[in-house]
Amino acid sequence: MIIKAVVLFLILIGVLAMFGKLHVIAPKSIRTRKCRKCGKFQIGRAKCSCHER
Ligand SMILES: [Zn+2]
Repeated sequence: MIIKAVVLFLILIGVLAMFGKLHVIAPKSIRTRKCRKCGKFQIGRAKCSCHER
């Protein structure tokens, strides 16, 4: 029973860490942002392809 609880706890931490990386670390390190029109991820200040005319 105790081992089961520890395993579940580790899995929970792993999932939280994954979501934490996705939400906190990724935007800071890569500085990605979503396009307002099409929703694609943009890297840096380069404009999305949908903005090109
Ligand atoms: Zn776009």
